[in-house]
Amino acid sequence: MMRKTYLFIAILLLSSLTAFKLESKDNEQIVILVSLDGFRWDYPDRGYSPKLKEIEEQGVRALTLQPQFPSMTFPNHYSIITGLVPEKHGIIANYFLNPITGDTFSLRHAHVSQSKWYKGEAFWETARRYGIKTAAYFWPGSEMDLEYRRPDYFESYEHERPYRTRVAGVIEWLKLPDSLMPRFIMLYFDETDSKAHSYGTDSKELNQGITRVDSMIALLDSGIKDLGLSERVNLIILSDHGMADISSERIINLNDLIGNNSKPSVYNYSTMAMIDTHKDSVGILYSRLKNNENRFKVYKKDEITERYRYKNHPYLPEILLIADNGWQFVQNNQTSKDRLAAHGYDNKVLDMQGIFFAKGPAFKKNYKCNTLNNIDIYPLLCKLFDIEPLNNIDGNLLNIIHVLEE
Ligand code: AMP
Ligand code: ZN
Ligand code: ZN
Repeated sequence: MMRKTYLFIAILLLSSLTAFKLESKDNEQIVILVSLDGFRWDYPDRGYSPKLKEIEEQGVRALTLQPQFPSMTFPNHYSIITGLVPEKHGIIANYFLNPITGDTFSLRHAHVSQSKWYKGEAFWETARRYGIKTAAYFWPGSEMDLEYRRPDYFESYEHERPYRTRVAGVIEWLKLPDSLMPRFIMLYFDETDSKAHSYGTDSKELNQGITRVDSMIALLDSGIKDLGLSERVNLIILSDHGMADISSERIINLNDLIGNNSKPSVYNYSTMAMIDTHKDSVGILYSRLKNNENRFKVYKKDEITERYRYKNHPYLPEILLIADNGWQFVQNNQTSKDRLAAHGYDNKVLDMQGIFFAKGPAFKKNYKCNTLNNIDIYPLLCKLFDIEPLNNIDGNLLNIIHVLEE
């Protein structure tokens, strides 16, 4: 009789353990990473983003999220998702040139989909090695032309795609049966970058833009709640860089600086200029620029400030000019009237700092912390999924682990 009771209890225990195991699979955590392009560190305190305020109270807010140099969109989205600085992941600007082949990288679909530019390993590739499904509703690098280097689900970038359609797309992914559902999802909105470029950082158009993207996060969060997934979702909201106002009063005219003698090729990014010229004329041009170094810095490629962790990339031009915050390079004294703010400056400048907000079961509650570095996000994502990051990344989990619940 006694033995039968033990057997019964053992079977009961075993079956409840199996049930727990099955249930725990359905309970695996989900991570959603939302990027609000150009959302500067101080915008959340303007009073136009109630949802971010709520997330701040429920979860984590960092004082700022520091971008990598140059503080531009593609280099930074790719640093966030690889844990590498641009000189290592290879996306050294939004537009650049391979000086040996003459090939150009740009934000056009024909270029952004060429996997050859993207070095290192994006988090979606790391996750794939562990059998974790991923999805991107727009993310730089997510539409590469090699199937095995892409997220399992992705969308080709379409600037005008309505924001509600994007959120609805993410919700559809979350409705998939567990075996097909992506457990890591990325989502991107350009609004705060676009509005600040066109109208400046103190404009009502930008403030409306802040509210617009904030309401999309609210829509996403309520969709998650309706699906009963709130307990499983870790939501991270961040930005790639900040923004600084520019003005026709703060211009650096490249034609005056360079002169016409050496016929260099100049890539002008408004906040940064890449100058290539014949090896023999580098010295002369450099001296000329150095003598006129005012409101910008001039570097020969092997002398670029160590702190930028930039100078070792083989595609860098002979000479790099970086404008001081709020200044812009122009050609023929021409400024563009519909360009009132810019980014791409020194990544330590306060105006270039972005945001980091997070909430969910893995994150501390009502926790404020100091500046985080965006290369530490990739190891954080690995930690959230309990998987090993790629070796030799630049990010370090130890810098960011304090945002997680113990
Ligand atoms: P920028 O202000 O020049 O650093 O770049 C911002 C712009 O990048 C946005 O307005 C988008 O048009 C563009 N962009 C963002 N993500 C992508 C993407 N995945 N593919 C192509 N272009 C993108
Ligand atoms: Zn950007
Ligand atoms: Zn921009």
